[in-house]
Amino acid sequence: MSLKKNDDIILKIEDMTNEGSSVGHYDGQAVFVTGGVTGDELCAHIIKAKKNYAVAKCMSIITPSPNRISSDCPYSDKCGGCSFRNMTYSAELEYKQRRVENALKRIGNIDAPVRDIIGADEINHYRNKAQYPVDVQNGELVAGFYAYKSHRIVPCNSCLLQPEEFSLCIDAFSKWAKESGVTSYDEKTGKGLLRHIYLRKAVATGEIMACAVINGNSLPNENLLVELLSGIDGVCSVCVNINKNDTNVILGDQTKIIYGKEYITDILLGKKFVISPNSFYQVNHNQCEKLYSIAGKYAELTGNETVVDLYCGAGTIGLTMADKIKTLYGVEIIPQAIENAKLNAEINGINNAEFFCADAFEAAKILENKGIKPDVLILDPPRKGCQSELFDVVEKMSPNRIVYVSCDSATLARDLNILDSKGYKAVEATPVDMFPRTPHVETVVQLVRKKPDTYIDITVDMDELDLTSSEAKATYDEIKDYIFDKYRVKVSSLYIAQVKQKHGIIERDCYNNSKKDNQKQPQCPPEKVKLIEEALRHFKMIS
Ligand code: SAH
Repeated sequence: MSLKKNDDIILKIEDMTNEGSSVGHYDGQAVFVTGGVTGDELCAHIIKAKKNYAVAKCMSIITPSPNRISSDCPYSDKCGGCSFRNMTYSAELEYKQRRVENALKRIGNIDAPVRDIIGADEINHYRNKAQYPVDVQNGELVAGFYAYKSHRIVPCNSCLLQPEEFSLCIDAFSKWAKESGVTSYDEKTGKGLLRHIYLRKAVATGEIMACAVINGNSLPNENLLVELLSGIDGVCSVCVNINKNDTNVILGDQTKIIYGKEYITDILLGKKFVISPNSFYQVNHNQCEKLYSIAGKYAELTGNETVVDLYCGAGTIGLTMADKIKTLYGVEIIPQAIENAKLNAEINGINNAEFFCADAFEAAKILENKGIKPDVLILDPPRKGCQSELFDVVEKMSPNRIVYVSCDSATLARDLNILDSKGYKAVEATPVDMFPRTPHVETVVQLVRKKPDTYIDITVDMDELDLTSSEAKATYDEIKDYIFDKYRVKVSSLYIAQVKQKHGIIERDCYNNSKKDNQKQPQCPPEKVKLIEEALRHFKMIS
């Protein structure tokens, strides 16, 4: 019998999900529970029941997992950030290690060894950036974080992940808002001024940047805000970012400095880095140094190499290796980040680096056309992974080694699989825990160009496979998992098969036709067609 809303059940938690909730099975049906830990036996109250899965709330723990600890954060059961506050750090690391291993094996079909995850020495206060959504009610400013999968603000100005000075900055904003009649932005009406408080700290120097993201052109009572913020130790830059768009993207394109410096300066592996508000910068300074050190090791530089660093942000990865590089080319799409990268080369006296503001694929094509043959290619794309069209250019550029840095093991695995078909073998991977207490994990991988003869064999193999190669890209279970993880919707193999068939992807016999003559098959409903198509696009099986 399947579960119904408001049922109370006893559930054994078997695993954690990619999004950080926990999962167990009841009569074969998956039940997702926030707040569970693998190994817990708990009492779960069903809040949503679908045909094949249910979502539940943990009411009480009957037998705690040996890995369960009590959360040290008063907000953790409401805020969507730290899913692992109830778990020992060693269990968290084990889970993340397994997650990377599974992704490489199951999604990527990659059998490269995965080295032990590099854990963090500091699991609290490690972040160097916070973006607090705000709400002002009767002059009182509430800043905090969005609750899990919602835009409801959980008030919190002392998050355990953030530097302690950030609480003082929030207090300064609150005082200013109260005395200046500041309104907060309302997503529904598009009215109101203050959208986010955006704070950044350069951990190595202690410099802090405080930024008000506003739906307007200027701040009321700006001098008061500057006075309050500049009195806080470390604050050396106060700015206003203008974002009048109806969007979830936090920052707008334009930033005005209203006090102090245009950027803050951090130090990574002995090199100085200036960072503007719009530039990407790794959020965990100490773990970032470990990550870049491994990336440097995987690059195997001797000083004679040409290196292309695609998706380079403020130039950080390439520049930390610049002393051992002959010529470095960096590519990044955000103009402010490229300006930072150029300045970063200059302030470190690095003159063997060139930076381009462009789309990674477009720039790679141009570099390739110019005959630039990198010895080492660094890829550090955003969560969604590399653009699929980039891989043909990579193949033409034919670097000897690729260092791939990724914050999403699923898209990493997908890309490693494509790179394998382009002649690049993953040699080894190292997960690095950049985001303790949250479900995210970073991974760095070394790939090398296969020997020409093996590579030719493989090319032939792939050609022969041609029509079925897209079939090989993601299994039915991976497609199901993707849709389920993202939308909590179950799709059957039959429906996947129907959508694959619609797109001309060769089908396995068993799902292709009904076994009995004249038997009518259920047809995939249009809303599920859309989800399956999205998954196929995600796995690059259709464009
Ligand atoms: N390597 C950097 C940045 C990695 S984050 C570091 O370690 O700090 C990924 C970067 O890719 C971001 O800076 C983002 O702005 C950039 N990016 C996203 N899409 C891009 C594209 N199509 N072409 C080039 N850069 C892109």
